[in-house]
Amino acid sequence: MSDNKNIPTTRNEPHADHFPTPPFPHQKQPFPGLAGKMTPRPDHGETSYKGSGRLAGKKALITGGDSGIGRAVAIAFAREGADVAINYLPAEEEDAREVIELIRAAGRNAVAIPGDIRDEAFCQKLVKQAAQELEGLDLLVNNAGRQQYCESIKDLTTEAFDATFKTNVYAMFWITKAALDYLPRGASIINTSSVQAYLPSEILLDYAQTKAAIVAFTKSLAKQLGPKGIRVNAVAPGPYWTVLQCCGGQPQEKIEKFGESAPLGRPGQPAEIAGMYVTLASGESSFTSGQVWCSDGGTGTL
Ligand code: NAD
Ligand code: MG
Repeated sequence: MSDNKNIPTTRNEPHADHFPTPPFPHQKQPFPGLAGKMTPRPDHGETSYKGSGRLAGKKALITGGDSGIGRAVAIAFAREGADVAINYLPAEEEDAREVIELIRAAGRNAVAIPGDIRDEAFCQKLVKQAAQELEGLDLLVNNAGRQQYCESIKDLTTEAFDATFKTNVYAMFWITKAALDYLPRGASIINTSSVQAYLPSEILLDYAQTKAAIVAFTKSLAKQLGPKGIRVNAVAPGPYWTVLQCCGGQPQEKIEKFGESAPLGRPGQPAEIAGMYVTLASGESSFTSGQVWCSDGGTGTL
């Protein structure tokens, strides 16, 4: 399907044709799903990410750090020299254990804090525990998300709408607010938005709104925290091969063709977006705040 299969690469590193392309097997998991049960298993950079001390000595809290994009960010941050705390749901312990081992294998301190971020009291406890066990907090990645497709507004229940907003918007607000007790000048907050903020699908009515809210939150807070020397940015992924899609994020027939409509003809693998988070987290981006960086396989959303 791709015409450029034979283009040689000049360097020995991944390129556009290195990663899996559709069709993918049908696969359905109950929410929240496990990355370890996906076929093919997503590439979170486990064997490929090489650090170079870009986040040496930093302390990071990453929500949804057990799988997908959050896991790729956790691996990259640790290999760049950061100590990392991850939050996830108790049902994801199996995925989380692998991430904890990978952080420790990078020689960094790893902290596992399972719990449901739809609860404000838990969000406050999460931040406090992370800052205490890491002995500080410099980087906050609000990445956990709920995406459950629904064909019609008529079938979208108040409970589902509420769960999506609690997970994607309220938790980001509660966690960020609590983190400000610890974040020093030079700290960086990175929120995971989506291309859905800009090109919303008809079946993701609630989710798309939350991702747009994350963009406005990011831009507003960047203005508020600029004088405190804290940067706030967002990343807007396009289609990425993560378990979010297989546990209610998309209808099953779309999983098989996932990423097909992107000009690169495939979904991104989590390892391919971790570098954006590293760059936004690092002092290399010290004048970058209030921005949304997109990675969508060539669609040109932003
Ligand atoms: P993922 O399922 O691997 O990660 C999402 C994580 O959210 C889960 O691992 C889970 O730990 C966490 N989570 C969900 N509800 C929670 C709750 N109530 N309490 C605590 N944690 C909870 O999938 P992903 O695709 O890596 O998702 C990461 C982020 O990327 C999400 O914000 C998602 O909206 C966003 N995103 C993903 C895509 C994509 O195509 N995969 C595209 C755009 C944006
Ligand atoms: Mg998970």
